[in-house]
Amino acid sequence: MIENKVVIITGASSGIGEATAKLLAKQGAQLVLAARREDRLKTLQQEIEQLGGKAVYQVTDVTDSAQVEQLAKLAQDTFGAVDVLVNNAGLMPLSKLNKNKQDEWNKMVDVNIKGVLYGIGAVLPYMREQKRGHIINISSIAGHDVMPSSAVYSGTKFAVRAITEGLRKEESVENNIRATIISPGAVDTELKDHITDEEIKQGIGNLKAMDAGAIARAIAYAVNEPDDVAVNEILIRPTAQQ
Ligand code: NDP
Repeated sequence: MIENKVVIITGASSGIGEATAKLLAKQGAQLVLAARREDRLKTLQQEIEQLGGKAVYQVTDVTDSAQVEQLAKLAQDTFGAVDVLVNNAGLMPLSKLNKNKQDEWNKMVDVNIKGVLYGIGAVLPYMREQKRGHIINISSIAGHDVMPSSAVYSGTKFAVRAITEGLRKEESVENNIRATIISPGAVDTELKDHITDEEIKQGIGNLKAMDAGAIARAIAYAVNEPDDVAVNEILIRPTAQQ
């Protein structure tokens, strides 16, 4: 059950994270919102509170492990538990390898892989102590399949799936901690706005992407299952995507 669960969401300032925060708040979760853009977090917190929900936020860069540890502590200190972490923050500056965009490769590795690991590292001590918890990591269809221009992004999303599967095998039986991979296809968010490679930008077709609410509902489903049921992975594509 979602009601009263303490849920940390990274990347809550837009897209999938924001939609998930709104849906889980409506279903009674107590939220800890994280991202870098404070104005967005503040507005979201106010919207949730106006609807009768509970939320706090912390400006957080997930590439800084100390900030991510502080985030878990904020959840514990404010609401008295760390029930769910949604490791959602991510970047997708697609480009082909021969463009040698090392700065973008580094950022993707830092946010999409290390950020996820820092999140896991920060919440596990609380969840192991509680002998319950749920970590939901956002991978992608690109974590199952590689396209030209997605080599590095896909590499990070394959890694998210591997890390989540390792987490499940290490923590589920012994410590009652659930691990879920969510693998979305195209979702209509700000994610593609950060692509700097003009060729790739122009090549992105007119595919009718899903609303972020579709992913929020999948996350809510996984959280809402009874604690003895672990939803391991959900793949969701827009009907219009091959
Ligand atoms: P958005 O760009 O709308 O959201 C990305 C979020 O990540 C923002 O809230 C951003 O907040 C946050 N973020 C980025 N860098 C950092 C950082 N260093 N520290 C903290 N937060 C950070 O895109 P989506 O909602 O689409 O993306 C969410 C996740 O879903 C990503 O992991 C993405 O890879 C994945 N995904 C998306 C798909 C799509 O088609 N949209 C498909 C498959 C997977 P801020 O800038 O304020 O820090």
